[in-house]
Amino acid sequence: MPTTNDRRPTTGPSTRIGYGFDSHEFQPGIPLKIGGIALAHDKGLGGHSDGDVLLHAITDALLGAVAAPDIGALFPPSDPKWKGADSVVFLREALKRVRDAGYGVANMDASLILAAPKIGPHAVAIRTRVSQLLGVQADCVGLKAKTPEGLSLDNAAVAHVVVLLEKLATSKKTRKKKRS
Ligand SMILES: [Zn+2]
Repeated sequence: MPTTNDRRPTTGPSTRIGYGFDSHEFQPGIPLKIGGIALAHDKGLGGHSDGDVLLHAITDALLGAVAAPDIGALFPPSDPKWKGADSVVFLREALKRVRDAGYGVANMDASLILAAPKIGPHAVAIRTRVSQLLGVQADCVGLKAKTPEGLSLDNAAVAHVVVLLEKLATSKKTRKKKRS
């Protein structure tokens, strides 16, 4: 059994935290996607790409945790290339940067704020999809949904996300190389 010490990195912090925020306005007649899942609703979220407010906040949390440029800098809304793009592309790039920095995702937690549709019936599907995308167990993805009481935000969806990263253990191969 490896001890905690065996997994301790030689350089850099053993854990890193990241925080992401995003908001999008509802617009009639476009599909609604939250957490990579298509939800039946009469309005969708506008903006560049597919407007997936949750994946955007997760992407920014991951990028922030490794002090990488944010989602707007990497995928500028002004670039027609990203119009209608699947936000999974953004998340995968953020994950690649996390791994390149030597970290893996430990867990994440999210709060969604929106008046409608109700997230409860879709929460398991969203958590499952997000956990697959992040490569973690579903019980490492927290998701709460709240209505925007007193915020006058009935036509918007807001997402707040925190992620915790863990330094990946140095591979045996690398350790051997270092010793010789
Ligand atoms: Zn966004």
